[in-house]
Amino acid sequence: MKTQGKVASIPYTLERRRTSRLISVRVLGDGTVKVNAPYRVSVAAIERVLVSHQETLRQAISTQKMHLHTYQSGDTFLFGGKRYCLELKQGAKNSIAVIEERLVVTHVGKEAEALVVQHLVKTLYRQSVKARVEPLLSLWAKRLEVVQPPFSVRDSKSRWGSCSAKGRLNFSLRCQILDDRQLSYLVLHEMAHLVHFNHSKEFHALLALHMSPYKEIQASIFALQKESQLHF
Ligand SMILES: [Zn+2]
Repeated sequence: MKTQGKVASIPYTLERRRTSRLISVRVLGDGTVKVNAPYRVSVAAIERVLVSHQETLRQAISTQKMHLHTYQSGDTFLFGGKRYCLELKQGAKNSIAVIEERLVVTHVGKEAEALVVQHLVKTLYRQSVKARVEPLLSLWAKRLEVVQPPFSVRDSKSRWGSCSAKGRLNFSLRCQILDDRQLSYLVLHEMAHLVHFNHSKEFHALLALHMSPYKEIQASIFALQKESQLHF
């Protein structure tokens, strides 16, 4: 059961869960506050928790909102590790193109709808990830001496990549924000799961063998987590 509330001018969504044992408060990627709590805890008790953490919450909300896209001209996107500027112009049909370091969106009609622009950006990201992952798969398949696996690019917000038990790889279209080294590491990581289907010592040793600074690269990817929300 979900209910909406507001305390100390912070709006929040409260979800009651039979399985929750504690009150948990999270600021989501779009800057909204989500609270999970067991049924037995009163709203007053929950709001006391929010009030006592209001400074931290406000800071987290404004940090998240800084990463919100407007999908207007001047908005910027990480694209292959570099920051590209969005440019909108009116034209005969909806399309997107990469021109120098700009994402140029052509839209039908006077106003560009945010959802239309978002869809075009997503399509471009998806195609770009597909094109960049393909050669990396063949490279790492040779080096790891495994068969090149099938893969797809998905609209995932929570994971950069994954490897199924059947050996199928998935990458998020948001991987397009990564630079070449980061993307190569990610492909290596998922492909190393074809050798070790876990995060064991052997798995990490394999990563270290093929990419010695992998820990540093992994940390740089984690640091981009906020940006990866992209509010697509
Ligand atoms: Zn993994």
